[in-house]
Amino acid sequence: MTTAKIILDGNLVAASIKESLLGRINRLSEKGIVPCLATILVGDDPSSATYVRMKGNACKRLGIESIRVVLPKNTSTDELIEAINKLNADPNVHGILLQHPVPEHIDERAAFEAIRIEKDVDGVTTLGFAQNAFGLADFPSCTPAAIVAILDYYKISIEGKHAVVIGRSPILGKPVSLMLLNRNATVTMCHSKTTNLEEMVRLGDIVVAAVGKPKFVHGDWIKPGAIVLDAGYNVGNIGDVDYESCITNASAITPVPAGVGPVTIATLLKHTVEASEKLTLN
Ligand code: NAP
Repeated sequence: MTTAKIILDGNLVAASIKESLLGRINRLSEKGIVPCLATILVGDDPSSATYVRMKGNACKRLGIESIRVVLPKNTSTDELIEAINKLNADPNVHGILLQHPVPEHIDERAAFEAIRIEKDVDGVTTLGFAQNAFGLADFPSCTPAAIVAILDYYKISIEGKHAVVIGRSPILGKPVSLMLLNRNATVTMCHSKTTNLEEMVRLGDIVVAAVGKPKFVHGDWIKPGAIVLDAGYNVGNIGDVDYESCITNASAITPVPAGVGPVTIATLLKHTVEASEKLTLN
């Protein structure tokens, strides 16, 4: 028997999120407020520069202002924190995104912590993370929030499902695990020291791949009927899931590109609009 496949179309989900923001942006504009996202790029990593450009372009298309702060590779932690503090203090900046990863000599955690919570639109501070753990975050990390938004858009129930998350990074694997747990999934979090990974993944009704390794998840790890969400974005637009083999058993799957990526950007725009509403309308 062949199972009907749902290709979880990230462009469709992203369009619906952006559409829902138009009226809110107009209402802000009537009050003379333009939501503004500041992105900070340290160094000259070409992929990071591309991501920052994509985010800036997405802002522009929707009428959100974007400020790009580009700092040289040899910027110190203190200099980076000083740049963040300037943006914290700027009343016209509503969201701050420090593009990850920063050069190795920088204390990335200290830099993230410097972002004012009201402007932490990507949920990178420990306070933002903790709020997300309690299900209380205004701005959970954008990629985890995008994954949940895709499931919600397609009305895929989370409650009672066994979710297997591969990856435990503070911006992706851990927060998405907590979000799924808060939505009453039973969650297994896997990582590089997990000894029986394939067996774990085979238990998943929902599988989230957040590994950073191209085509890492193979089709024969996927339980028939499982829902597969690929957060991976590797060089050459390649996901962490081997789409061609995983689609055989999956009942629903995100492609790469046009899966989690566009929804992550739309979520960032949504958080920026919400931050500007909170910072200016209260
Ligand atoms: P990361 O910080 O490098 O974390 C990777 C995680 O994968 C770690 O927890 C690591 O385990 C685990 N891992 C590595 N090798 C493994 C293995 N052989 N078996 C099981 N687990 C393994 O990466 P990240 O920042 O979370 O990003 C993950 C992926 O998502 C990347 O492809 C990235 O490009 C993508 N991403 C996409 C978006 C988007 O908008 N779509 C946004 C952010 C990231 P340990 O903890 O044990 O080291």
